[in-house]
Amino acid sequence: MVKRLGSVILVLVMIFAIFVPVQAAVSPEDCPHEKHDEHTLLCNECGTPIAHDYVDGKCTHCASKTNFIVTEVDPKRTAENEKAGTVVSHDYDTRAYVTEEKLGLTDVFTQKRMNVYLPYGYEEGAAAGKQYNVLYLLPGGMANEDFWLDKTAVKNLLDNMIAEGLIEPIIVAMPTYAYREGQFGGHEVTIDNPGDIDLLLDLFALELREYVIPFVESKYSTYADNANDIANLQATRSHRAMAGFSAGGGCTYISGLQNNLDIFSYFGIFSSSMGRYNHVLPLADILSDSEGYGIDYMYNGNGTKDSSYEYHLPYYFDWVATGAIDDNVNACLVVKPEMDHNIGTSGIADLYNALPMFFVTGKAGARSNGLSTRDIIIIIAVVVVILAIAVFTLKHLSDKKKRKDQV
Ligand SMILES: [Zn+2]
Ligand SMILES: [Zn+2]
Ligand SMILES: [Zn+2]
Repeated sequence: MVKRLGSVILVLVMIFAIFVPVQAAVSPEDCPHEKHDEHTLLCNECGTPIAHDYVDGKCTHCASKTNFIVTEVDPKRTAENEKAGTVVSHDYDTRAYVTEEKLGLTDVFTQKRMNVYLPYGYEEGAAAGKQYNVLYLLPGGMANEDFWLDKTAVKNLLDNMIAEGLIEPIIVAMPTYAYREGQFGGHEVTIDNPGDIDLLLDLFALELREYVIPFVESKYSTYADNANDIANLQATRSHRAMAGFSAGGGCTYISGLQNNLDIFSYFGIFSSSMGRYNHVLPLADILSDSEGYGIDYMYNGNGTKDSSYEYHLPYYFDWVATGAIDDNVNACLVVKPEMDHNIGTSGIADLYNALPMFFVTGKAGARSNGLSTRDIIIIIAVVVVILAIAVFTLKHLSDKKKRKDQV
């Protein structure tokens, strides 16, 4: 019996070894071949993952077509529109979670600022009871809340996309995970102290959940009726998106997807060095532990000359390979030829591509993907154990019968 148990355990260990996803990064470098599978993205000949390469909306490697742009946004969409929305700045109080963590304190408060874009006609809409979707848009490189407004034509883009009917009127909140000088308890982020970046990107999850979202969504007419009630935020998660450029994309993954998936279902990761942030967990694991909350859509964008390109692509390929996302179903990776790490050209093009993908499918509370790898492992393990017990029992019974017959 002990021997049998040993072989059953051995079989289980072998199954785990085969099925547990390998997190090793795959190289995004092009293989010499031309065709890839439309869904797995793997090269038909050598199995190397290759991103879709869109020319005039058609992939050169497969039959897939797209409306995503891989060039700069049409200048007419970044020009002023007479139906202009407004941007309001707000100071808000929040616990300084990073300072608390660094100094071993609790209940340290600080004041931060965010910008909020309100679409054309918001006042009338809100007065008439209209509810608005909200995008939380994060800056790159430890920058402040003015980053997107200073470096891109984000306001004009939103005005034009709404006026053209490409997207519904939307509220865009622009806070920052970063702290102003002096707010970091003497632990400002420096090149020599990069570990603090991980803390900022990670602990913003708490600031977002406890202060930023309740502030924005109780002040403005959103789908949340009671923004201080987590159950209400969970019920309205398909009306909430988070996106960011560079470290803002890392923050979107860590603070949004990884730590607040119950209250967000749309994500945009633009030019992010996923491989450089230390608190990133595998997406398949996040979804396995998400208590049923799934991803309605996850937009990924990068450029071939972007410094974050090689730190972003392997992650996307891994998320597809492990079944965490379905390419061109609830996720995409848009690679823009020759574009570099520039929010004014590449970042704004990604925002233009991502916005129409948000707030569309809306399966709040429902899991977007099917069985996870972990589920499959458990099912196989249970089946193997049942089979082993059945075989053992049958063998035992027939042995017993044989012995009886011999007697
Ligand atoms: Zn190949
Ligand atoms: Zn393709
Ligand atoms: Zn850490």
